[in-house]
Amino acid sequence: MSRQYTIPPCSGMAIEAMQGERITVIDTDGGQVADFFAEALDHAEEFLSAGVTIDCNESLRLNVGSIIYSNLYNPMFRVVSDDVGEHDLLHPCCRPEMYEFFYHNGQGHRNCLDNINACLNRSRAIIHPVNLFMHTKIDPNGSITVLPPLSKPGDKIVLQAEMNVRLGIAACSVAESSCNSGSCTPIKVIIDSVK
Ligand SMILES: [Zn+2]
Repeated sequence: MSRQYTIPPCSGMAIEAMQGERITVIDTDGGQVADFFAEALDHAEEFLSAGVTIDCNESLRLNVGSIIYSNLYNPMFRVVSDDVGEHDLLHPCCRPEMYEFFYHNGQGHRNCLDNINACLNRSRAIIHPVNLFMHTKIDPNGSITVLPPLSKPGDKIVLQAEMNVRLGIAACSVAESSCNSGSCTPIKVIIDSVK
């Protein structure tokens, strides 16, 4: 059985996945970031933590075989395969204040924080997702540069759920920088039972 979802540009969607199921996130048009967040299905106080993921993997990168951890240091996902190899664990979800800070256009701007909070019916003050396909270059001096994603149309990453989760995934709303290659496009998600 396979469930397929299309997240429209600048939108979010909640999707449930059970332990052992495979989650394929597809950049349908290429060059688009997916803000990937999740909470444990029956206890939302346990949720995806990019910081804990950096800590446990001792790496700023996600590789095939890497684990994505919860705030309670439990495995939530394992990277099964990856067409792209560049994802971001550093940036919080975009939000009106971010658009205001950089572009002075925050009022009423679509944004991943509100889109993920809305689809999960939460009001988290900040969300640090895994920014799938986001290409952040880290210089040896510590400065960072956001470059266009390396993902081409149809490129995908496959994750296996290591616990029952409710995903909150947003097709990122930034059109002002290279983050999404200058325009916002959809993200497709497929959930497969392996057995
Ligand atoms: Zn965003």
